[in-house]
Amino acid sequence: MADDGGSLVSLADEVSALLNGVAGWLLVWLGLTGVAVVAARAAGGTLFSLPPALVVLALSVVAVVAGVAVNPRFERSYARSRFGRVPAVERRTVRPSEAVDEPCVVCGETVDRGLCRRYREEFVVAGLALTATDGEENYYCLDCAATELGIDTDPVDESTADRETDGERLAESE
Ligand SMILES: [Zn+2]
Repeated sequence: MADDGGSLVSLADEVSALLNGVAGWLLVWLGLTGVAVVAARAAGGTLFSLPPALVVLALSVVAVVAGVAVNPRFERSYARSRFGRVPAVERRTVRPSEAVDEPCVVCGETVDRGLCRRYREEFVVAGLALTATDGEENYYCLDCAATELGIDTDPVDESTADRETDGERLAESE
């Protein structure tokens, strides 16, 4: 019974995330439309008077802010006070099917399977990662990856594909 409850809760979470995403984009679209209408009228000289235009603009800004706030796409990755460029490191498992050209950066051997680390820079505004550079990729063979990660000889599994950064990211369970 506990399992059923858990899967129901996770289904509800997924549905609410989806709805929040839809509502978020709708609000952003509504807000941007409002701004566009006011801008077009101002440019065309058909703006009757300033106060109604300002009200529309203010409502539009509120709609965009609310849309971004409820949208899971814009989930905060960092503390709210974080602004500017932030270095981030992503790790993922390399599989034999990828046929990687790059040699292992530690021992120079061909990387059949192992680990790929991507170093990139994210542009963060108020804790939201808005854009990220493509970044540089480093490949590690299985042995060197194991040494890097401080594990013995266990194959690299999915759990190492988590994102890690310089310790600023919030816990995923939030
Ligand atoms: Zn190696």
